[in-house]
This record gives sequence, structure tokens and C-alpha cells, in this order.
Amino acid sequence: MGAGVMVVAEWLLECSREFVARKDELDGLDRLLGDGDHGTNMVRGFAAAEDLDLSAQQHAAEALRQVGMALVQNVGGASGPLFGTFFLRAGAHWDPSLTTHGIAVAVREAMRGVQARGKATVGDKTMIDALAPASASLDASAAAGEDVAVALEKAAAAAEHGRDATVDMVAKKGRAALKADQSVGVVDPGAVSMALILRTAVRHIG
Ligand code: ADP
Ligand code: MG
Ligand code: MG
Repeated sequence: MGAGVMVVAEWLLECSREFVARKDELDGLDRLLGDGDHGTNMVRGFAAAEDLDLSAQQHAAEALRQVGMALVQNVGGASGPLFGTFFLRAGAHWDPSLTTHGIAVAVREAMRGVQARGKATVGDKTMIDALAPASASLDASAAAGEDVAVALEKAAAAAEHGRDATVDMVAKKGRAALKADQSVGVVDPGAVSMALILRTAVRHIG
């Protein structure tokens, strides 16, 4: 297993552990906004990803694609295909040299994929509200020539800021839109998950 695959495999493993630890919290948020299964969905998806033999992969890009496929195939509902697309597209655009520019491109393309599929834009109270500021931050870091550790730390902080901003938003996409009038005052669980994935990346890729 090459160094790049190791880094990505460790990152995904920690995501899986984090989702197990935060399953009830995420289900609870989704109970207020949707159908109460978001934490359960993420745990199921990442458990399937953990079952993959990522060590058999020679390239991080392929490991990311495998994880994306596992999420698409094992998680029902909105979030499986969307988080799956995130990893599939990140894998398709992954630069194994792990530069700030390469990561910025992969995250930007991953976000484009999620938006092509889910049609959400900033302000709709979804995972995009965490992802878009992270992607913009990575682009700015790449332009400024910042190293990967600094860039990922800033991106994770931007995602968390975006996540927190969903509290005041009215839900416009997914199941939460059906309860739009009750959605203000609650943080979007998908944005919490996206911020978690990016924060975890700081510890493994940064
Ligand atoms: P479901 O709503 O099918 O039960 P989950 O509960 O697992 O799926 O995921 C809900 C999360 O999915 C939301 O919190 C939101 O962040 C995200 N989401 C829903 N619809 C969209 C969309 N069209 N674009 C982006 N993210 C979305
Ligand atoms: Mg749900
Ligand atoms: Mg559901």
C-alpha cells in the first residue's frame, strides 16, 4: 500500500469512527428537520467503506472511488448518493502529490458533482453550506501558495463556520424542505457531517 493510499485509508477510518461516536447527535438533528436517520445512514455507509480492502488499492484515487461507490450503494436516501458523489468526484480528480492546488481542485470538482446531483446552492441549508466555503478557502490558499496543513486547517474552519450558519437558514432542499417553517434554529445534519469529514482530513492529510 503506497503512502497516499495509507493517508486516505486512515482518514476514512477516522471518519467512520467519528460517525459512530456522533450517530445519535446526527439522528437527533435529522429528527428535528427530516426523518431522523442521518447519523444511522452515515454509520452504515462508512461501515461498508471500512469493509473494503483499501489496502488492495495501489492509488488513493481508486480508494476514494471505492468509498464513493460504497456510500452510493449502501446508504439510501439523499445523503448516500451525495456524499458518495463527493468521494467519487474527489477520486476522479485526485492528485497523488498532495499539493494544496491538487486538493483544491479535487474538492472543487467534488462540490460541482454534489451540486450537479442535488441542485442545492449556498443558503439552501444543506451540506453545500459547509462545503462551498471550504472549497473557496482551499482555492484562496492555493493562490496564496499556502502549504497543505495550513490550507486544510483554514478549510475545516471555513466549513465549520458555514455549518454553524445553517442554524439561521430555512431549508430549501431534501426532506427538511417539507418542514421548512420549523427548520430555523436547528443546524443542518448534512452540513455537520461535511464539516466533520473536512476536519478529520486536517489530522490525516494536513
Ligand atoms: P434523507 O433526507 O434521505 O433521510 P439523510 O438524512 O441521510 O437523508 O441526509 C440529510 C442531509 O442531506 C441534509 O441534512 C442535507 O445536508 C443533505 N441534503 C439533502 N438534500 C440535499 C441536496 N439536494 N443537496 C445537497 N445536500 C442535500
Ligand atoms: Mg434523513
Ligand atoms: Mg431517510
